[in-house]
Amino acid sequence: MPALPDTPDFIRSVALVGGTHGDELTGVHLVRAFLRNPRLVERPGMNVTPLIANEAAVAAGRRDLGHDLNRAFAAADLANPELDAYEQVRARQINALLGPKGPSSKTDLILDFHSAASDMGLNCNITGEDPWLFRLVALAIRRLAEHTEPLAVRCYQFPAPAGDAPYLPSIARHGLGIEVGPIAPGSMNAEIYFRTRRLALTLLDLVAEYNQGAWPDETLSLDVYTQVATIPFPEGDDGGLGTMVHPERIRAVYEPILPGDPLFVGFDGAVIPYGGEAGLFPTFVNEPSYYPKNIALCLARRTQRQA
Ligand SMILES: [Zn+2]
Repeated sequence: MPALPDTPDFIRSVALVGGTHGDELTGVHLVRAFLRNPRLVERPGMNVTPLIANEAAVAAGRRDLGHDLNRAFAAADLANPELDAYEQVRARQINALLGPKGPSSKTDLILDFHSAASDMGLNCNITGEDPWLFRLVALAIRRLAEHTEPLAVRCYQFPAPAGDAPYLPSIARHGLGIEVGPIAPGSMNAEIYFRTRRLALTLLDLVAEYNQGAWPDETLSLDVYTQVATIPFPEGDDGGLGTMVHPERIRAVYEPILPGDPLFVGFDGAVIPYGGEAGLFPTFVNEPSYYPKNIALCLARRTQRQA
């Protein structure tokens, strides 16, 4: 068996999670399809569990009922029974079902399905460092790119938070976010749905092959987009939203940005150019769910790594 990155054992239990954000319907309908037809996701030697994370928010057609479920999984919060927001209670239930968060978690791998209104394409999101996950993603990207109907997938990395990660996938040994777009909140896009399904099934195939010792032994080059900054909307005179993202940039997600490129446009039509470092990649551009955090877009740096 070829040398593998530092993963001590097999991946026996996998959870496929949708509806962590209740208005991101791609994951919801993907998981429902898996619940209706479990044979799609059955793989030899693996226990695969599809789960709708926030049914109440899905029923309400909302991202959440007041608290972001994907920020409710910090260890200290999971251990605090006095936190009684709906999503905080639900996080403890999910932690009991799939966790508990930490080395004795019942779940080896969580795939958590999200969508963005921004034109993000298909992304595998990794938080911090996880060599095994980077290799899984590199193999999936190659397999889908070389298919007779090629599918482009990017690897996106969120920096590890300073403390304990509050994200749902953090309760498994390995946690992977799947982010697809552009899809308006509360709606479906059939083409992206089927692409996401192909990505999910390919990842499961590769995990099964890993368990069988069937991963190739060559090293792969992987482009990784690491989020390095979030850019706020310039403030208006009244302290509220003072500008909009420039339409050219909304159409140019993942295209490198250069100083002087139009970035914002004011309500009076005045264009505000980008003034930062050259060659970074704008992501999550004009993402509606980021407006409450006053984030207009994110910037990522592309590096190549061996996986
Ligand atoms: Zn989401």
